[in-house]
Amino acid sequence: MDLDFDERTALFRAEARTWLADNVPDEPLASFDTESGFAQHRGWEAKLADDRWSVVSWPEEFGGRDVSLLDWLVFEEEYYAAGAPGRVGQNGIFMLAPTLFAHGSEAQRRRILPKMARGEEIWAQAWSEPDAGSDIASVRSRATPTGNGWLLSGQKTWSSRAAFADKAFGLFRSDPDSARHHGLTYFLFDLHAPGVSVRPIAQLDGEPGFAEIFLDDVFVPADDVVGEVHQGWRVAMTTAGNERGLSLRSPGRFLAAADRLVTLWAKTRDPAFSDAVADAWIDARAYQLYTYGTVTDLAQGRQLGPESSVNKLFWSHLDVALHETALDLLGATAEIDPKWTDGWLFSLAGPIYGGTDQIQRDIVAERLLGLPRGDR
Ligand SMILES: Cc1cc2nc3c(=O)[nH]c(=O)nc-3n(C[C@H](O)[C@H](O)[C@H](O)COP(=O)(O)OP(=O)(O)OC[C@H]3O[C@@H](n4cnc5c(N)ncnc54)[C@H](O)[C@@H]3O)c2cc1C
Repeated sequence: MDLDFDERTALFRAEARTWLADNVPDEPLASFDTESGFAQHRGWEAKLADDRWSVVSWPEEFGGRDVSLLDWLVFEEEYYAAGAPGRVGQNGIFMLAPTLFAHGSEAQRRRILPKMARGEEIWAQAWSEPDAGSDIASVRSRATPTGNGWLLSGQKTWSSRAAFADKAFGLFRSDPDSARHHGLTYFLFDLHAPGVSVRPIAQLDGEPGFAEIFLDDVFVPADDVVGEVHQGWRVAMTTAGNERGLSLRSPGRFLAAADRLVTLWAKTRDPAFSDAVADAWIDARAYQLYTYGTVTDLAQGRQLGPESSVNKLFWSHLDVALHETALDLLGATAEIDPKWTDGWLFSLAGPIYGGTDQIQRDIVAERLLGLPRGDR
């Protein structure tokens, strides 16, 4: 068995590496949690799209290169190794787009994907509500039919980047007599539509990384329903599978961080940290190889299932351990090195967003191990 990449993939990797070396900004962009940083990152998305590096695995008609998911992983490895900017459009590109490929109409894909790929429309995920976080099936925001569309009302919260984004996707209760997973519909809506109020939420660093979204009889046309009316749960599970399983957190991100950690350790070669550094590097590499296996399965027609919860537990804990090791290595100087401290602060959110650890463990226990369902 030959486990090496073929020549075509090696050429693709080399082309990506050269482009990134020529184009990644020398100075980091401002944080995309600020208005000016958001605009800078939007510009970067357009630059990527100009040379068709924004969404490499999408069909060409939507701005991609129609390459395989394995090639996409290769591109991501090069992207993070080059220290390229974070993707301000990530929730659209890595969560909504796979959902549209699976459940959207051709008209929706044509209307939405090319602008998403260029950063002309940045999408936010409007799922969580004040009383529906882990238990997303208890959403209370509602959709009422009207004429040729729907009126959306309710409150969403913790919507990343919604302070400056253009559009959002979310679940609404469309059948008032339904409960739990039934009677929900998956909608797209404009964050600037009449009746929408976006209230930014400041993070610990003071920047508005999240927003609350209030909807008061917001009209959306019937064309902005994804999948079938009242079947939103099924559609939402595709989004969640991509958030936990494959697209949102590619191994390239952790491999690059693990390489930086090794470089940091090599400055002192302090034996007190060698085990922790080696563990972080091995875990990042294990996640890379496991993900190669996942994309190979997907290429053979398998669907992502509850094992995406195992994936999410693995990468989120790997990220925390890796950053904690870096801070331990740096000691007191960690506080003046924003690269590692910012990364550490963000890593702490990994076991929460996309479904908390406890929820992932429940899924693993019930759906993979077949253990009895606990009381909720
Ligand atoms: C950085 C970040 C970005 C985010 N971005 C978005 C976004 O873009 N869009 C969006 O909609 N949301 C977003 N969220 C919100 C996120 O999805 C929720 O925070 C998460 O689902 C948990 O919901 P909650 O905060 O309401 O906590 P709760 O659901 O209230 O949970 C509180 C605690 O109780 C535990 N718990 C709850 N139910 C159970 C159970 N059945 N069994 C065992 N333990 C349980 C949880 O594990 C947790 O520890 C983001 C969150 C973070 C931290």
